[in-house]
Order: sequence, then C-alpha cells, then structure tokens
Amino acid sequence: MNMQHHKLHDETGRIQALKHLDAQTITSEASFDHITALLKLILGMEMVTVSLITEDTQLLKARQGLDLKECSREAAFCDIAIRRYEPLIIEDTHRDARVRDNPFVTGPPYLRCYIGSPLTTADGYNLGTICAFDTEPRRFTAQEAQIVTKCAELVMNQLELRSEANLDFLTQLPNRRSFETGLERELARLRRTDGVATVAFIDIDHFKRVNDTLGHPCGDRVLRDFASLLFSQCRGNDVVARLGGEEFAVLLPDTDIEAAQIWADRMRRKVAETFFDGANAVNVTVSVGLAALDPTQAAGVAITTLADDALYSAKRQGRNCVVAA
Ligand code: GH3
Ligand code: MG
Ligand code: MG
Repeated sequence: MNMQHHKLHDETGRIQALKHLDAQTITSEASFDHITALLKLILGMEMVTVSLITEDTQLLKARQGLDLKECSREAAFCDIAIRRYEPLIIEDTHRDARVRDNPFVTGPPYLRCYIGSPLTTADGYNLGTICAFDTEPRRFTAQEAQIVTKCAELVMNQLELRSEANLDFLTQLPNRRSFETGLERELARLRRTDGVATVAFIDIDHFKRVNDTLGHPCGDRVLRDFASLLFSQCRGNDVVARLGGEEFAVLLPDTDIEAAQIWADRMRRKVAETFFDGANAVNVTVSVGLAALDPTQAAGVAITTLADDALYSAKRQGRNCVVAA
C-alpha cells in the first residue's frame, strides 16, 4: 500500500470517493448490521460501529450498543484511524494523550478502549472505519486486529456492490433504479421547501439505424459518448441517468419548466452538432419530454408518465425537438 500513502492526505479525493460510492445515503441496511453484530460477538465488546467521516462530521451508519447517529469530526476517534492503513488500537484511553480529553472519554459513554480499522477503497482512500469500544481497558491480540481488518474489507465489498447496483454498466451513469430514488428524494425535499424541479426524458432518434448500419459495438460507443456529452451539459446537483436502451433522464432541481426548456433546447442543439464515436463520426438527434415535479403527487410515477407522454409528443412532432407536458 506504500504507493497510496499520499491518498491519506488527499482530502478532496477522499470526499469524491465518498460521493462516488454514494456512501452517505446508507440508512439502516441489514448487511452492515450483520457485520457489526458479528464483530461485537467475536470481540465481546459493548459497542461496534461503522462510521464515515465527511468534511466535518462523523456519521455512524451502523451501530451496536450505542445510540448516536453523528458527532463532530473533532470528537471522532475514527478521524485518527483514517490517517493510516493499519488498525488503530487504544488499550486504555486514559493513558493515550490523543484521546484522554475526548468528550466521549471524559463524558458518556466513558470510553476506555478502542480498536478500529479504516475502510479503504480500492484506490487507497479511507472513508471511515469499523470499530469497537468498551468502557473497560483491555488488551487486543494481533488476531483480533486481523479480524477487525477483515470486517473492514467486508464493509467495503458491501459498499461497492451497493454502488454497482445503482450504476449503468455501459455508461457508468446512475441507472433507472437510482434515478427513481433520486426522484423520490427530490419530491420529499420539495414538500419541505416548496421549491421547483423539472424532469427531462431524452430518447435518441432513430437509434436502431446506428446499430443497423454501423453495428452494435459502434452503437455502444455512441451511447457512451452521448452519456458524457449529456453529463457535461448538466450541473453538479442534477441527476443524470440512463433509464435503459437509448433512453436517458435528467432531474433538474431548482429549475422551473421555462428554464428547463431553455436548457433542453441548448442540449438538443449541442447533440445535433456533435459527431460521436471518433472516426465513425456518428451524428444523432434527440427528442425531449419535460414535466415539472409536483410535490403534491405521492409518487414519482405520475411525473414520469407525464414526461413520457411529452416525449412521445416530441416523437410525433417529427423528432429533434423539446415538448413540455
Ligand atoms: P425512435 O426515434 O422512435 O426513438 O427510434 P429508435 O430506433 O431510436 O427507437 P427503437 O425503440 O425502435 O429502437 C431503439 C434501439 O436502441 C433498438 C436497440 O437495438 C438499440 N439499443 C438499445 N440498447 C442498446 C445498447 O445497449 N447498445 C446498442 N448498441 N443499442 C441499443
Ligand atoms: Mg427508445
Ligand atoms: Mg429512440
């Protein structure tokens, strides 16, 4: 791991890695609870957690024996643990200057010992830890340290699987399932804040012809290039997804239907003037259907039906155009 040691100090990259795995959106997921419960049983300790360290906060994503969802990063033992690639072991907190004055040592739950292993991504970023605490000092064996490290690997596997389940393999964009989650999250946000948002459904015109004339592998490359162009036309908070086939969707937060129309038309023109797949120089157009999100709607389904109908109208109006519901 020596080559990766600089990653311990690359905070920007670390935060990006957290985002990439969508790790912060973990709620109570059984797979993480199974790992913490198992570690608690093996070590016979009172508290076990899976934590993620964001810019300024420790988020406790799975907990056994401790009722705490987050705390400040300064108070986090795990912030010490993520500055290394080996488990951090503190056999007696009262004898360790790094944590002696920590609020969780001087106050409830009066932690006396700690063992934690960093959650390291494949390219060397430490996102957080899996760790165990107790209210009595204790010794830890080398084997116990190895067990905690193995548990950290299990947590990372789980995080990676979870993120792959939300990604489209061909384009690496979020998939339909992920888009629907994003839509529900945005609807919930609109209900709290009474803001606006718009969804755009985008379908490539006559895409079958690309496959028929240039072959399926070329079609795949066009889809991939198209996905990056579409992504480049969006803002950081937009959710850009491949719904399937040659159908894509964008959720545009804080965007009313008029603003979305301007955006969609600019994107549509950009696509029409771009040549995809290098030397094959494939030129395609898109049809776009827009629908404003209505926070009084219980489910995103109604909105996607509206956008889908608008898209269908755009196809009937001759393609390469934008229609708002
Ligand atoms: P329209 O303008 O009405 O949308 O015409 P179209 O040809 O784009 O629409 P249709 O739904 O008839 O065909 C979609 C095509 O997209 C057919 C299918 O082979 C192709 N397609 C879907 N998924 C993929 C993929 O992953 N890779 C490739 N290369 N082609 C795909
Ligand atoms: Mg289609
Ligand atoms: Mg199509």
